[in-house]
Amino acid sequence: MAGADPDAERCPRGLARAAVGAGGRAAARRLLARGLSVAVLEARGRVGGRTVTTMLRGHPVDLGAHWLHAGPINPLVALGLARGEPLRRAAQESHLRIGRRPARPAESAAFARAWAVADRAIGDGARLGGPDRPAASALPPGLGPWGPRVALVHGLVSGRPLGEVSLHDFPSMEYGDNFFIQGGYGAYLARLARFLPVALRAPVRAIDWSGEGVALDAGEHGVLRARAVVVTAPMMLLRDQDAVRFRPHLPDPVRAAIDGFSAGIYEHVVLHWPSAPFRGRDRLATLLGHRLQPPGLLTRVDGAPFHFFELDAPLAHRLDAARAGADGARRLVRETLAAHVGASGIRDLAVPAVSEWRHDPWSRGSWAVVPPGHAGARDRLKEPVGGRIWFAGEALSRAQWGTAGGAWEEGERAADAVADALA
Ligand SMILES: Cc1cc2nc3c(=O)[nH]c(=O)nc-3n(C[C@H](O)[C@H](O)[C@H](O)COP(=O)(O)OP(=O)(O)OC[C@H]3O[C@@H](n4cnc5c(N)ncnc54)[C@H](O)[C@@H]3O)c2cc1C
Repeated sequence: MAGADPDAERCPRGLARAAVGAGGRAAARRLLARGLSVAVLEARGRVGGRTVTTMLRGHPVDLGAHWLHAGPINPLVALGLARGEPLRRAAQESHLRIGRRPARPAESAAFARAWAVADRAIGDGARLGGPDRPAASALPPGLGPWGPRVALVHGLVSGRPLGEVSLHDFPSMEYGDNFFIQGGYGAYLARLARFLPVALRAPVRAIDWSGEGVALDAGEHGVLRARAVVVTAPMMLLRDQDAVRFRPHLPDPVRAAIDGFSAGIYEHVVLHWPSAPFRGRDRLATLLGHRLQPPGLLTRVDGAPFHFFELDAPLAHRLDAARAGADGARRLVRETLAAHVGASGIRDLAVPAVSEWRHDPWSRGSWAVVPPGHAGARDRLKEPVGGRIWFAGEALSRAQWGTAGGAWEEGERAADAVADALA
């Protein structure tokens, strides 16, 4: 949240507030750079939001965002390069296995063709205009045996199956030219939060904009007054009107834009698996030829024996319906990988961490998804409410939706708008 305090004696240059995920950090840094004083209110006991790096067996491992997507337009890539951060381009090579063998060249080529055809069809479908519809409806029928896999992976990275994703919103994401950062994305973003005036464990329960400026009810931290606020809490949380209460209520179009998002689900099951049959570092692996398939698999992360087995929304929902918890995810992963490499192939497999962002009270999902018919919501939320409430964060980014880079871009945009408005 970010704003400027009307109490000129106490705070002559204004006071800004933000929750510190990527979007909040960007907003706070930009507001400081624009000469406003900043206070940051963060619900958790740590900064980082959905970016966090933890140490597992002495190695830094991201439990949230890991890829710096869309290198040419991602502000965190440009900033990282300028700061001399240890960025490296993501590998283009990947693994494709069918049953217990590597795919033949003709199979790999057919798979690549199916991707190209599907992506072109979705792009063309969106460009055609007309009423919005599910992205799945644009997939051409002739993808053969590769079609279900292409649809599943698009659903994984979208956060919901393609039938639940807006066609018009879908192609806005630029996935090419990705980067990784040694030491973890979460650790990098934590470095960018250094020196920010952050109040931790300060959840904002209510935002009163009935009078002049805004009053933020931060529980034990008291009521903080400001001339404006930038709200970077996830849309999945803002949909719950009891989580952050707005007084008066938000205007109907704004409330409808927030409520229309659905929760994207994408979870890391972190594997420590030294003998995994994948060579090269940071390579995606596709395992086909069995009923059980990892929706996503990133192998030898940072060249270490760690791998990310990615859960998509359907798998996560199935685990939740069975009340299986993290151990259920571990069993599922073992069963799936054993189906592809045999029981002896997973003898040294350990699963040291399973993320559950969908159950985290301060995220309630991995990123916000635009369902069919809701395209336009991101742009709708860019308009300030009452000239003093700005929204930011990943959900507002068109070109980098669902990403830390998009959250950063939107935090800076909102901060500039606030600074211009309060100048
Ligand atoms: C498993 C996983 C993998 C991902 N992989 C990638 C990836 O590879 N690359 C990528 O770019 N993105 C990835 N993402 C998405 C990325 O992490 C998010 O899009 C991005 O971090 C969101 O940033 P944000 O600032 O919008 O929100 P957040 O990071 O969620 O920040 C919002 C902050 O607001 C705080 N907050 C919430 N409610 C309140 C309140 N009431 N009062 C005060 N504070 C509050 C939260 O605690 C949080 O710190 C992934 C996400 C997940 C979960």
